[in-house]
Amino acid sequence: MHEMALVSATLKILHAKMAEFNVKKVVQVTMTIGTMTNVEEMTFKAAFEVCTEGTALEGVRLVIERVPIRGKCAQCELEFTVMNYRFQCPQCAQRNVEIIAGKEFYIKSIEAE
Ligand SMILES: [Zn+2]
Repeated sequence: MHEMALVSATLKILHAKMAEFNVKKVVQVTMTIGTMTNVEEMTFKAAFEVCTEGTALEGVRLVIERVPIRGKCAQCELEFTVMNYRFQCPQCAQRNVEIIAGKEFYIKSIEAE
């Protein structure tokens, strides 16, 4: 499962950060996840819960901020939100679209006690 691998990578970073800043208890973790990553929010949260069970991160509140896919037309340079993975410029119908947002996957903030 795609989400499981991402959760385990995320937890590695979280544990490293906790050690770095000598944090004992984390209350909330906010993550920024772009639509382009194909991460299913419910699955990710469930996997997170399973993986943190019995660890210092058990019971932590996980907040996920989704970023819609944004494209930029190579021809007219219009920037637009890509709906339903339709990579076509709404202004000039050009299909040469550069993805400028939606691939994000990072920990935005960690709230410690
Ligand atoms: Zn265009």
